[in-house]
Amino acid sequence: MTQGNVIWIRNPLATYGIDTNSGRPAQNVSGIIVSNGRIECVLLQGEDWEGDYDEIIDASRLVVLPGLINTHHHFYQTLTRAMRIALNKPLFQWLEALYPLWANLTEADVEIATRLAMAELMLSGCTTTVDHHYLFTESCKNAIDVQMQVATEMGMRAILTRGSMSLDQSSGGLPPASVVENEDTILSESERLIKKWHSEKDYSLCQIALAPCSPFSVTPELMRATAEMANKTGVALHTHLAETEDEEAFCIAKYGVRPIEFLDDCDWLNPRAWFAHSVHLTQQEISLLGSRQCGVSHCPSSNMVLSSGVCKVKELTTAGVAVGLAVDGSASNDHSNLIQEARQAFLLQRLFNSDFTHLDALRMATLGGSEVLSRPELGHLNEGAAADLAMFDLQEIQFSGAQDPLAALLSSGAHRAHHVLINGVWKVKEGRLMNIDTANLVKKHHSQAQKLWQRAGLS
Ligand SMILES: [Zn+2]
Repeated sequence: MTQGNVIWIRNPLATYGIDTNSGRPAQNVSGIIVSNGRIECVLLQGEDWEGDYDEIIDASRLVVLPGLINTHHHFYQTLTRAMRIALNKPLFQWLEALYPLWANLTEADVEIATRLAMAELMLSGCTTTVDHHYLFTESCKNAIDVQMQVATEMGMRAILTRGSMSLDQSSGGLPPASVVENEDTILSESERLIKKWHSEKDYSLCQIALAPCSPFSVTPELMRATAEMANKTGVALHTHLAETEDEEAFCIAKYGVRPIEFLDDCDWLNPRAWFAHSVHLTQQEISLLGSRQCGVSHCPSSNMVLSSGVCKVKELTTAGVAVGLAVDGSASNDHSNLIQEARQAFLLQRLFNSDFTHLDALRMATLGGSEVLSRPELGHLNEGAAADLAMFDLQEIQFSGAQDPLAALLSSGAHRAHHVLINGVWKVKEGRLMNIDTANLVKKHHSQAQKLWQRAGLS
């Protein structure tokens, strides 16, 4: 099956992401025609497809969603899940426990971690993913090139960010010297990667963004120089922001301002930028992010595991901030399952806001992500959209007795997509990855993880 083939998805049980003008899911979709990597046509009740087709999918038991969009991740952390040294710690202590382990990362580690994270994401219905990689030690200099080669081979839509850390403990930062880089190297490598890999074209499968790690791991000079390079080259900007109270205290102690003001001083508050977490914000700061058209990645599981706090999603969206969903790195979640993350967002937000619905959570996982990443061709299934689809089968035991299929996806807890299409090409069919031996991949990945722990003196 190639991208050029015409696929007719017939009689879906339910759909989401069609008719975004009203913000409501269309109730009367009888078919979706995919051709040349795009949504060619949406058929409503009573309409039939009269054109040619190569394949027909009976979707009468399937809920059809736009492919889910993951707006923040650290793939390499799949090798360091549930590490005993980091369990039950808040962010700064968790990072201090893991930095020395991560300092041993190699390009072979990044390669297998990227492969596994992408496989795990696709199995959960995710079709577009961001990764934020910020470890570039001697043994891991070309991590982004390695990741991009894997993404290209696997055919997943990817926005890979060139992360960075330059402020070590001796200069008042949090990371040890073993994991930081020289700032000239960071900037020249960022420029090289943009030239080599970034594609501005609509429907692009490969994009680069620039992502200094956080206010406590880079200098203000690097933040400013990175924003300048993003403006010059047209790429997006990303960082962790306002994740914890410790970060707030760090910025006040070192720079005399709160994290948002620190980034504003570095020329970062503009539509090019999106921020992971953004938990600890005042109403004034929320309004500022809205007026500057910034985006936010909500990472509910990570925020809960690290006891970071709760992102004020309702206040952010009311202020005009685009909010997308993210699993965050696999050492603070510790999975890469985006449909389960949508359930986490649904449950966590409802705890504080009874107006938040399952449809709001699905929107965050789809259209919200496309807004955050400024990719209007993604996150919906209207005609002309990218042919990125995730279909879920409601025959599993936990859905038995469920009336509303879209609500059941989250309230009953979907965890695995039945079919996934990216750019018009099948990636998952009947719950299995195409052309990937999953058991072998897991075996190789786990063995690589054990070697990494051993190099760090852990077992
Ligand atoms: Zn993160």
